[in-house]
Amino acid sequence: MRRKCRAPALAFAPTVTSASAIAPARGFAVSRAFAAAVGFAAVLTGLWPLAASAQGSQPGSAPVRPVTEPVTSGFNIFRRLAGGSGGAEANKAALLAAYPGAFRFEGNHAVFPSGTRIVWDDGRTKSPDQLLTDPDLEDMFHYPYPAGAGISPPGRDQDPGRIRNDTFFRALYGASEGDVRSTLVAVPWVPSLGGGRLMVTRRFGVDRQLSRVSAELERLPPQFHTFLVPSAGTFNWRAIAGTNRMSVHSFGAAIDINTRHTNYWRWDAGNGGGTLPYKNKIPLEVVKIFEKYCFVWGGRWYHYDTMHFEYRPELLPDCRRN
Ligand SMILES: [Zn+2]
Repeated sequence: MRRKCRAPALAFAPTVTSASAIAPARGFAVSRAFAAAVGFAAVLTGLWPLAASAQGSQPGSAPVRPVTEPVTSGFNIFRRLAGGSGGAEANKAALLAAYPGAFRFEGNHAVFPSGTRIVWDDGRTKSPDQLLTDPDLEDMFHYPYPAGAGISPPGRDQDPGRIRNDTFFRALYGASEGDVRSTLVAVPWVPSLGGGRLMVTRRFGVDRQLSRVSAELERLPPQFHTFLVPSAGTFNWRAIAGTNRMSVHSFGAAIDINTRHTNYWRWDAGNGGGTLPYKNKIPLEVVKIFEKYCFVWGGRWYHYDTMHFEYRPELLPDCRRN
């Protein structure tokens, strides 16, 4: 039985606006202490801060200032490297619960009714690039997703939700453009703001969850509306720019909000090789509503894509109950 909004079960962390209010690290894994220390040192040496200003606000409306979470204590970094999940079995359970009935586990493999078998853990240790280009299913949980947290620059290469096993997503949503198109339905997008209709998949209730996002976003005060319309699109069968990996837009399970306020790492990357200055103008209030209904945000990635949200319930425990 589904509940309508206002479900108290999903305990989002409170909005954090000052260093003193940062939640203590949980479950810090000693084996990762060195990596955390390196990341923290990077912060101290200047990768920081580039929190965005509130440019682009609509004339006549109060500017919406993105909430940034000061990270001088380094707690954020610890929290992100800490795992946060309950380990392999809990992650397997989260994956099963996220896509009910789609597959089952047989030992080290996810097995789909079509016969598609995908390895859970290939036993390999991977570089950040290899995690993106050749992930097993377990790798999709490599960076814990900081649901409901304040907005702050992710540590180097921390891309929670950006790691996706292509075969898995094709098996979930459709292996061809035609297969996916046959699952699409039109969802009114913030209709009181004239957002039109967006085509998304009905697989796993993505359409219903996006409708709930839309209804709750409409209730935000007017200064937030500029971030929502026009939407830059949902379904689009294509590879991710600069890669041969399929975008989640291909599966009708992602949405881009207004490009006017977006920041995208490729636009800022220069000649590559250096560090990326984090940029964001999307307010936390908008992000939290998407996360409540199972959409992860590209603004929580080191390789940021701040207009992008995609349906990833395996990374947002209990969101399907909302
Ligand atoms: Zn996108």
